[in-house]
Amino acid sequence: MLGVDIGGTKVAVGAVTRKGEVRGEVQFAPTDTSSAQDFVRSLVEVLRQARDGVDGDLQGVGLGCAGTIDWERGIVVESPNLPVKNEPLRDKVAEALSLPTVLDNDANVAALAEARVGAARGLEHVIMLTLGTGVGGGIVLNGRLYRGVNGSAGELGHTIVMGGDDPCQCGRRGCLEVYASGTALERVARRLAAQADAGGDGTGASNGYGRALNELRERGQLEGEEVGRLALEGDQAARDAVAEVARWVGVGLANFANIFNPQMIVVGGGLGNLGELILSPARELMRQMAIAPNGETAQVKPAQLGPEAGVVGAALVAWEELGVMEPAARPGGDLH
Ligand SMILES: [Zn+2]
Repeated sequence: MLGVDIGGTKVAVGAVTRKGEVRGEVQFAPTDTSSAQDFVRSLVEVLRQARDGVDGDLQGVGLGCAGTIDWERGIVVESPNLPVKNEPLRDKVAEALSLPTVLDNDANVAALAEARVGAARGLEHVIMLTLGTGVGGGIVLNGRLYRGVNGSAGELGHTIVMGGDDPCQCGRRGCLEVYASGTALERVARRLAAQADAGGDGTGASNGYGRALNELRERGQLEGEEVGRLALEGDQAARDAVAEVARWVGVGLANFANIFNPQMIVVGGGLGNLGELILSPARELMRQMAIAPNGETAQVKPAQLGPEAGVVGAALVAWEELGVMEPAARPGGDLH
């Protein structure tokens, strides 16, 4: 299968075996976001080249795409970083490549990849939480991706954790994403950096607290990744910023442990790369807050697959969904 990871800045494509192994190199191309038409045209061009370069018998295409996906109809309903609305992307790709095609949400396909060949390999009940600029989620229950009625289940980042006024990117308020994302880490770090000017940690002593964060701020580099690097180096203010975000990650984990009683919650994305620095306090809080035995049962592990998770996961969805269906019932299969 061709596995395709469609992001707001780049498209990644690779040929993936039934066992989830990438054959050859994953290839990258910039995403054309100038218009819906140009986006589809350039994507199809990239996929045709990838198809023609595959040494072997291609069975189909799996597309993983950021945004709200209508799974049944193969439509990108909307996507924050792509110029498309109600775009029937699955059938357009199937027709252009003459290959059966599936289309799913990028967080869903990453969850399936971690459950099949990643951190949760072989487990039946797995939740994936992706802590990036926003917070994404994917749900694997009884060994299958859970998509809900419209294919839009798993919006774990937009579960509401506060009744307050803090606005979310989604246009609503109080979502987990507001407090437990890379964006949240930057906001907290900015607040703590301001304490360097105010004379430290509140004791009035000029003890250097927040100074390194403040220097980042003045250089315009106060980004989640840089804050994380400082925290890993042991800077106290940066560690405090990570700890504040970790508490909210823990709140999310406790909720998901209570709702799903999973064997494992896999944490990925930029914040997930901070490893135990964020996972350890978050896991501890989950154990305290979740109802027994849910909090004890759920392991919390960092994602294993890294940047190729999207490509591998999209292909695995295609393998599982196309492989078990009769050819006539395959999305795009009638065009093959
Ligand atoms: Zn939201």
